[in-house]
Amino acid sequence: MRKKSPDMCEFCEGIVEERIIQARFHFKGQTIYVDRVPAWVCGKCGEQYFDAPVYKRLEGIAKHRTQIKKTICFPLAEYDAALVQA
Ligand SMILES: [Zn+2]
Repeated sequence: MRKKSPDMCEFCEGIVEERIIQARFHFKGQTIYVDRVPAWVCGKCGEQYFDAPVYKRLEGIAKHRTQIKKTICFPLAEYDAALVQA
């Protein structure tokens, strides 16, 4: 995850497209998922990029994560997580 929105992926030089995603956000050793986040996603490797205001907002959400009431069923997230952690 990066804080900017490049035209091209920094890692694989794939095309980065604007999309609304379920963002996986790492914060202080924890992982949270946030639905419907505007992001830039590499069409090749899937790396996610966020505009600075969006990233800040995600950080804010993470800091207040104890207030998050809606949780997702883990199998929904598992497919995505498995790709990264394998
Ligand atoms: Zn890429």
